[in-house]
Amino acid sequence: MDNSASLLSDGLDRLGLSVAPEVQARLLAYTSELLRWNEKVSLTAITRPEEVVDKHLLDSLSVVPEVKDAGTLLDLGAGAGLPGIPLAAVLPALRVTLVDAVAKKVAFMKTGAVKAGVADRVRAVHRRAEGAPEVEGLPRADCVIARAFMDTGPFLQLARHYLTEGGRVVVMLGQMPAAEALEAHAAAAGLSLLSARTLALPLSGDPRGVAVFRSP
Ligand code: SAH
Repeated sequence: MDNSASLLSDGLDRLGLSVAPEVQARLLAYTSELLRWNEKVSLTAITRPEEVVDKHLLDSLSVVPEVKDAGTLLDLGAGAGLPGIPLAAVLPALRVTLVDAVAKKVAFMKTGAVKAGVADRVRAVHRRAEGAPEVEGLPRADCVIARAFMDTGPFLQLARHYLTEGGRVVVMLGQMPAAEALEAHAAAAGLSLLSARTLALPLSGDPRGVAVFRSP
């Protein structure tokens, strides 16, 4: 037995998130399935239980404050479904589209969404996102997000095409750049910087940044 359940519960407390025990159990069922598939399909380099909880689940859930008011979320380059599947699990009104260019990852995302108990609100699409939602059959969303997908500048250039009117792009960062750099990326994409904050992951203390952009 590993101690993932207590690590997750402690980490959620430290993020200030109240998550029902059954939802926590589903999050762990999702990561168990992820590690099971990972033996055959390369999905993650992170396999230690503490790291899976911290760097996958808690990292994904660290952006709940930025995402919680959205009705629809588009997760580009979602890989194994991160951050979109954990976000769907804790935000019961959120409808999520996960997109990845690799078919095997999309196959896992479909199974992962079932394990996380969110298959009714989460769609996984095998597509290369290139900025033409209508042609690609991808939806626009209130919130466009990605993790470990592209550098901020190119990501904003791509993500802006998928925004609904008044929608926002949420950028998950390892290191928080200077505000001027974020403003410059925003301006180049025809967006404006709405907010930026830093945080530390609850278990490892690793630094993270979250920046939000919208149409000016
Ligand atoms: N977001 C996940 C995966 C990051 S790896 C996580 O944080 O763990 C980046 C993923 O983006 C890969 O799975 C790759 O297949 C996918 N990808 C790269 N370019 C893409 C594109 N243009 N459209 C859709 N997926 C893309």
